[in-house]
Amino acid sequence: MRALIDRLEQEGTLSREEWIALLEGRSEELAQYLFARARAARRRYYGDDVYIRGLIEFTNCCKNDCYYCGLRRSNRRVERYRLTEEEILACCREGYALGYRTFVLQGGEDPAWTPERLARLVSAIKGEYPDCAVTLSVGEHPREVYQLWFDAGADRYLLRHETANGAHYRSLHPPEMSPENRKRCLWDLKEIGYQVGCGMMVGSPGQTAEHLAEDMAFLRALEPDMVGIGPFIPQRDTPFRDRPAGSLELTLFLLGLIRLMLPDVLLPATTALGTIHPRGRELGILAGANVCMPNLSPPGVREKYALYDNKLCTGDESAQNLRDLERRLASAGCRVSVHRGDHKTR
Ligand code: SAM
Repeated sequence: MRALIDRLEQEGTLSREEWIALLEGRSEELAQYLFARARAARRRYYGDDVYIRGLIEFTNCCKNDCYYCGLRRSNRRVERYRLTEEEILACCREGYALGYRTFVLQGGEDPAWTPERLARLVSAIKGEYPDCAVTLSVGEHPREVYQLWFDAGADRYLLRHETANGAHYRSLHPPEMSPENRKRCLWDLKEIGYQVGCGMMVGSPGQTAEHLAEDMAFLRALEPDMVGIGPFIPQRDTPFRDRPAGSLELTLFLLGLIRLMLPDVLLPATTALGTIHPRGRELGILAGANVCMPNLSPPGVREKYALYDNKLCTGDESAQNLRDLERRLASAGCRVSVHRGDHKTR
């Protein structure tokens, strides 16, 4: 098994059978071997810097009905909110003063946020903070809309592909959503010139090692600048409420594999990882991650952005709590970087 990890590092990819063998044959000892290589790879490109992004969850209204997500339109239990432009700009102001140089605007696919309205917001943020990057994460849209936001100044776009396998994708989403459109969006974003992030939910219902092998092949083909992966966590008001959560152990192993396959990629230790284990983020950093995205939303709405149960939004997850995050990162041999944290080689 170590030979497969060595080959992944040298050649940057494996065959489908090899991915499956590695995933099914993994052990604690193999994981430690992988993580040491992954940390060395990260260090070659990024040193011990971990980039921080201020995450502004600006609307929890969504027209989609993804079976796993607490924001799905059929969920009548969630209290819906939308931040105003002024509230979002106030989050940026606070974040800037704290040292954040990337703002991630994430939300459901909310029709009240028309393309033009969001473009105006992006221009306003870039006008006030020209030294900051703006990342959008607002789902699937026509290419022209992505172009409009790019022209308004958006630098990056996060859109998880969730799973690269078509049948698996359909089992996680309602019929009106398609794996083809998801992938089309990612290729459009890349062609337009965004720094693009994709990624999968680990341990989502029905996921197999074969699916994960397809995910790795998709990442290899797309060559995203960022990869966001986190464990699936059930949410009590969704059809997947009784499904088991994805594991910490598999998520960490995949983080290590992704770091070795795409050594210069920006790789977050996600909130979901911090939610399933008290030291989840540090363990993610030790497995090769190099980005954290603390929550910069107004405290009053944080609990309403309930993608899954018990989602962290206070304590170290809070953007205001940089001291504690620094302490945690130091325990993993890393330090917070206040730079924009662009992709190193593109
Ligand atoms: N609407 C945008 C989109 O679809 O990309 C951004 C918001 S969406 C809620 C962000 C991500 O949350 C999804 O891509 C999905 O991977 C993750 N997510 C949603 N429900 C989840 C769950 N139950 N467990 C873990 N992650 C979840």
